[in-house]
Amino acid sequence: MPRFFERIKDALIDMESPDVGEKAAKILIVEDEIKIAEALCAYLGRAGYAVSQAGDGESGLAAFNASAPDLVILDLMLPKMSGERLCTEIRRVSRVPVVMLTAKSGEDDKVSGFALGADDYVTKPFSPRELVARVNSLLRRSAGDTSPLFSRMSWNGGDLEIDLESRTVWKRGEHAALTPNEYKILSRLARHPNRAFSRDELIDAALGENFGGFERTIDSHIKNLRGKIEDDTSSPVYILTVRGVGYRFGGVPRTEAAR
Ligand code: CA
Repeated sequence: MPRFFERIKDALIDMESPDVGEKAAKILIVEDEIKIAEALCAYLGRAGYAVSQAGDGESGLAAFNASAPDLVILDLMLPKMSGERLCTEIRRVSRVPVVMLTAKSGEDDKVSGFALGADDYVTKPFSPRELVARVNSLLRRSAGDTSPLFSRMSWNGGDLEIDLESRTVWKRGEHAALTPNEYKILSRLARHPNRAFSRDELIDAALGENFGGFERTIDSHIKNLRGKIEDDTSSPVYILTVRGVGYRFGGVPRTEAAR
């Protein structure tokens, strides 16, 4: 048995994923060496993560867009689209943590990996124990922030746009006059597109912890907000109701840089 897999077996025993709430954090592995990919899947799955995998760069990008993972483990040398290119594509739309795996060990490669926006860099052969520890620590640091990197965000082919710096919102190119509370609620939801927020959380985020009103106050803000940004408030596409929880953002992203 190769040493790599023996070490995986040993390290399976006492690794724990960080507490990420009721849902397991999603990890996408893009790696064309099947044995390494399968071992990582088993290993991270055992550590409590929901793991998916792709065997080349193109299907890796498709899987990224389809599953919106909380962290990506990315091999550098991949068929169809290189790991560098895929990392660049991911960084156009997301600040999700990226760990680069590579057989190259030169300092220059490390520097270019970071320049592309990788958060960590692991040289093969690597210790699986160390890799999972790094994954745990990156996820703790990122706290699920997979929001776009650029201050100007755009959804549904430019139908809705927000500039986070000037705090301006446009609907079909027209300035949408949001109240400060409506803006705070919308930007909070939009920056965490995969997360369902409870009414309580939205009150804390938007209105402040000392807010004395009722949870249902949020519903009236949401109603007004939908009136300003949705085409049809009876079937909203941006502010979605999550039954029994609260609300989540449903826009399909496109960034300035991706145009
Ligand atoms: Ca490879």
